[in-house]
Amino acid sequence: MPASDDDTDADAAADAFALAGNEHRVAILRALLAAHADPETPYPTPFAVLRDRAGVDVSAQFAYHLDALVGPFVARTDDGYRLRYPGWKAAAALAAGTYTDQPAFGPTRSRGECAHCRTAALHASYGDAWLTVACHGCERVLTRYPFPPGAAAAHLDDGGVDALLAAFDDRTRSHFALGVDGVCPECAGPMRTRLARVEGENPTDTRGDGHAVQAVADCETCGNHLTLPVGCVLLADPRTVALAADHGIDLVERPYWQVPQLVGDARVERTGTDPLEATVSLDADMTVTVTADLDVTHTTD
Ligand SMILES: [Zn+2]
Ligand SMILES: [Zn+2]
Repeated sequence: MPASDDDTDADAAADAFALAGNEHRVAILRALLAAHADPETPYPTPFAVLRDRAGVDVSAQFAYHLDALVGPFVARTDDGYRLRYPGWKAAAALAAGTYTDQPAFGPTRSRGECAHCRTAALHASYGDAWLTVACHGCERVLTRYPFPPGAAAAHLDDGGVDALLAAFDDRTRSHFALGVDGVCPECAGPMRTRLARVEGENPTDTRGDGHAVQAVADCETCGNHLTLPVGCVLLADPRTVALAADHGIDLVERPYWQVPQLVGDARVERTGTDPLEATVSLDADMTVTVTADLDVTHTTD
């Protein structure tokens, strides 16, 4: 029986782990990924070019490791070698540094105001593949979400903490939107979505935003457990984002953790208990109701 796509995805992570243990196979996959991205290098890549790019000096050794990759990870064609999907996934994971580089920094002062208390006391920190933005004014954690370490290092090189935070904002928004739509941002498997009560409503708890209710998405395939502020459910609904813009509320321009309508504690009210329901006030004239299944309806005056 052929493996399902989900098995292929789950295997890719295990494959990346296994491959990371062999420097020559890692070098070959990295070289193919680089060749794919470089218009100057032929792709599929001929044997000799690939051996040069991979930097494996001993030809027999290179041929042996390349042979081991052909089949599951690499396809051999008349023109040369190219990555198959599991090989590309493993190479991309290795390039993102999920299993290797571990940059860390912070807390470092970052731009903008806190969505809760409006003081300019935001601090970003990064370690163990998690990025956190917290406010040193009201002591709340505004957001905390994973970001691949190799990619974090590349953005830091590119433009420092600001560049990393911009990429983190884009990526996390898209993950939230996928999760709310029932698609796992890690493995593309189906997610079960719901509203959930937050135990412990102390605003300085780990969850941090002081909400009594949050949105949850659970992946049955990979076990990914996503929690997000109720306001961020709106990010999955372009109509709401457009309607808010008509009301002069820009949900897109600033990082999501600085937008009171998306994460602000005073904006969310639990308006139903069985089933759970929450209402987000965008402004005096516009409210959005989020149902237990994370469906969204608006009311405007
Ligand atoms: Zn604050
Ligand atoms: Zn998943």
